[in-house]
Amino acid sequence: MFPTAIAGSLPKPDWLAEPQKLWPQWRASGEALAQTKADATLLWIKTQEDAGLDVIGDGEQARQHFVHGFVEQVEGIDFENKVRMGIRDNRYDAMVPQVVGPLRLKGRVHAMEAQLARAHTKRTLKFTLPGPMTIVDTVADQYYGGGREGRIKMAFAFAELLNAEALALQADGVDIVQFDEPAFNVYMDEAADWGVQALERATQGLTCKTAVHICYGYGIKANTDWKTTLGHEWRQYEKVFPALAKSSIHQVSLECAHSHVPMDLMALLEGKEVMVGVIDVASDVVETPEEVADTIGRALQFVPKMKLTACTNCGMAPMDRSIATRKLYALAQGAELARQRHG
Ligand code: ZN
Repeated sequence: MFPTAIAGSLPKPDWLAEPQKLWPQWRASGEALAQTKADATLLWIKTQEDAGLDVIGDGEQARQHFVHGFVEQVEGIDFENKVRMGIRDNRYDAMVPQVVGPLRLKGRVHAMEAQLARAHTKRTLKFTLPGPMTIVDTVADQYYGGGREGRIKMAFAFAELLNAEALALQADGVDIVQFDEPAFNVYMDEAADWGVQALERATQGLTCKTAVHICYGYGIKANTDWKTTLGHEWRQYEKVFPALAKSSIHQVSLECAHSHVPMDLMALLEGKEVMVGVIDVASDVVETPEEVADTIGRALQFVPKMKLTACTNCGMAPMDRSIATRKLYALAQGAELARQRHG
């Protein structure tokens, strides 16, 4: 009951990359960089296990950013000439690469960290990839013609590539492949209309568990400012959850701790396993186990006991490393307390 997991990313140690940045510069290059990426991956596997988490991730230590880490390994993308573009409906500006030709994988994307993680933990291993719709929202299109049709074509092209990598991750021994789709919370109509279908294309043929993470973003200023404009009740999930409930995706990861998301929206995910965000990634205040257990208790009104995983609201990449570590311990201790309360 109540297994614990992180949404995906963890802070990079400052010997690996600039700390507390969303697009950090690496400290090393070439072989030395490959070694520090592997070292940081191992360190976080050990830390997650020590904290007592049940589902282990690689902490996304080997990718600069959760979208561009994948896109870097795709042919047909010009990474040399990035352009400034408003992403997530212009919530913030990012320097994004341009799609300039047919898309093809250059080879494996995440073999190193997936195989390393599998060799060093016996616990359930979850691996994250960006979702097709979110990738489309994080690159500049010079090839697919733009507009709704262009977005759909490009999303399905990325979905095919994601599917190839997801199948390879499964062969590496990954137990859960999760796709991160923060864009589902921004373009709600398109998410329900074709985003979920593109996501299902990315999971085609997988026999391991599949998951999708939908959130209100990292705890960076652009996101916390955006949240202040969303009003008293955040109902963004309302449009996409019914489409996900009908889909083949097994698990849905959502924001819940310190959030204005009405808890009853989780009832729209009937039949799904729900990764309930019980750790706030936009606050440096470390939750107490009691707070974590209380959030789990409130979610239990709408999620069956055996379908609830306790999770972080979102990735922790831009956080202080020691605070993130203490939050992992709070997550595990809070879930344990909830097991005592509800067992
Ligand atoms: Zn997130």
